[in-house]
Amino acid sequence: MNRADLAGIGMTSKRTRERLLARLREQGIGNERVLAAIGAVPRHAFVDEALAHRAYEDTALPIGLGQTLSQPFVVALMTQTLLDVARPRVLEVGTGSGYQTAILARMRPDVRRIFTVERHAVLAERAETRLTALRITGARFRHGDGYEGWPEEGPFDGILVTAAPPSVPQALLEQLKVGGRLVVPVGGEDIQELQVVDRTARGYRVDTVEYVRFVPLLKGKR
Ligand code: SAH
Repeated sequence: MNRADLAGIGMTSKRTRERLLARLREQGIGNERVLAAIGAVPRHAFVDEALAHRAYEDTALPIGLGQTLSQPFVVALMTQTLLDVARPRVLEVGTGSGYQTAILARMRPDVRRIFTVERHAVLAERAETRLTALRITGARFRHGDGYEGWPEEGPFDGILVTAAPPSVPQALLEQLKVGGRLVVPVGGEDIQELQVVDRTARGYRVDTVEYVRFVPLLKGKR
């Protein structure tokens, strides 16, 4: 892609980004910092060049290896739901393209450090390279199995899972601080409940906020 093409995408994206933000507002995303983060992170940098022109549509897009970059509405909803209050240490499971990671990184000071785990080594590497190129800092990357969380860095104030397990992984519950919040899509292949798990001094409280569709959280790393 040459400079003129890139400038072209820059121009279209400004208008289409504004349209996307208006749409997210209509759908109930009211957290201005979340909207600012979505407005600031260039989503076209997280997809293949061939799909860059569709980057600001409110739709999921493929990122290779059978994985998908979530729909902006779902990214916004999950971020807003996780960050009802400031949560300094956040674990993300399912780095994928690194887009959600970048949004979390733009949520400072609500979030201070992000730890993100991806089971595909290639995706983890590409995501890290991308964030470095975009000069987005504050995230640490790990190639590993998200079912195990990141025990060396836990416990966390917040955990965001962007692939769907059949039930909430035990290790993630254990790595959540008291007062911490876990946002996770739970269910089978076709549809999942977006669950919010709050850890209290007495245990865990679970709420369902939405129905969503994610790729499955698979066991083991590749
Ligand atoms: N948040 C991503 C979208 C993720 S798609 C983005 O913004 O682009 C789900 C991701 O979860 C995929 O990259 C998939 O490889 C990863 N994944 C699936 N099972 C996993 C596991 N057990 N541990 C870590 N990552 C996993």
